[in-house]
Amino acid sequence: MTLDLARYRDVIEDRDYPTVRAWRERTGGKVIGCFPVYAPVEVPYALGMLPIGLFGGGNRIEIANADSRFQSFICSIVKSTLELAFVGKLDLVDGLLFHSICDPARNLSSVMERNFPQRPSIYVHLPQNMTSPHAAPYLASELRRVGAALAPIAGRTLTPEDLARSIEAYETVRHLLRELYALRSQAPERISTGELYTLARLVTLMDPADSAPILTAAHAATRDRDARPKDRIRVVLVGSFCEQPPLELIESLEESGCYIVNDDFLLGWRWAQRRIRPNSDPFLQLAHAYLDESEHLRTKHDLRQPRAQALIESARAQRADAVIFLGAKFCEPGLFDYALYRKALDQNGIPHLFLEFEEKMWLYDRIRSEVETFVESMLFAEAVS
Ligand code: SF4
Repeated sequence: MTLDLARYRDVIEDRDYPTVRAWRERTGGKVIGCFPVYAPVEVPYALGMLPIGLFGGGNRIEIANADSRFQSFICSIVKSTLELAFVGKLDLVDGLLFHSICDPARNLSSVMERNFPQRPSIYVHLPQNMTSPHAAPYLASELRRVGAALAPIAGRTLTPEDLARSIEAYETVRHLLRELYALRSQAPERISTGELYTLARLVTLMDPADSAPILTAAHAATRDRDARPKDRIRVVLVGSFCEQPPLELIESLEESGCYIVNDDFLLGWRWAQRRIRPNSDPFLQLAHAYLDESEHLRTKHDLRQPRAQALIESARAQRADAVIFLGAKFCEPGLFDYALYRKALDQNGIPHLFLEFEEKMWLYDRIRSEVETFVESMLFAEAVS
């Protein structure tokens, strides 16, 4: 299989969702739009539907209708996802999945339901108390409820066997993504973050059975690339777990002198830290995996693992020279995290830079010069030490 990254890039930027349309025509199946972060995509896929990532309109769509439904201080992804619905771009979506990550996402679910009653919006109530002995059984029952709510759209009922097969399909893709992430960390000159992001985003728009061969080919093509390391600093990037920055901005960060060796882009599509092997109760197993083995963020409300400490450990494990916080404008969960991160990074002597983005931004000169100055100061300090 040839690796056509330029074509994949066009696909992920195209809000006519060509891979989703092609899948629909080929299979006649239904499509479920999944708002980030931790949508349980395994459930609709187990019902023969295609779950796709709804990551807003990017910088290709003008907000004309959604502004009248939300206040001005709401993040862009909420408004542009609603705008996609108003301009008919979500007509190929048969239902929507939202879950309890923040108030704007919760409100978007209700606004969608009210404005587009023909397209069911299903809201997943994730547990907020991770240590309760009832958390896992509760979440398992919630996943069953979601399956039952989706069943009329799918035209069939959900069985544990279907869910086990679905978990396996997504585990295959997550495993391949973990390999690509590991490759980038080891040799970031062989696969850029722009390339890795393109592949990871493609996963959110394809059947896992179709995206897995692409990831396998990508690993084979990049693993042995003959690329010389550049004089760049290694950075861990955090803050972009929900709304996604423009791909051009990610590339600007790299061109400004950074090797991004870890990030939280599209985290919900690669949430499992370890491989999940389905057992006789895949609902309960998925619940346990989310509670105890998922990448955690402010939106998960897990007080057992201090996130700032996890960031310090990640930076050390990745041999990072610095941390860049790239947060979406008006994203409260992200900004709350930054306050904790900043203190811990200062205490541990890890240089850091705060940047803010909006998905619809076009100009990157200011951010680029900020990053260049940051990188130069670090390389200069290294040279004189
Ligand atoms: S970007 Fe932040 S505030 Fe907006 S929906 Fe996502 S988590 Fe919520």
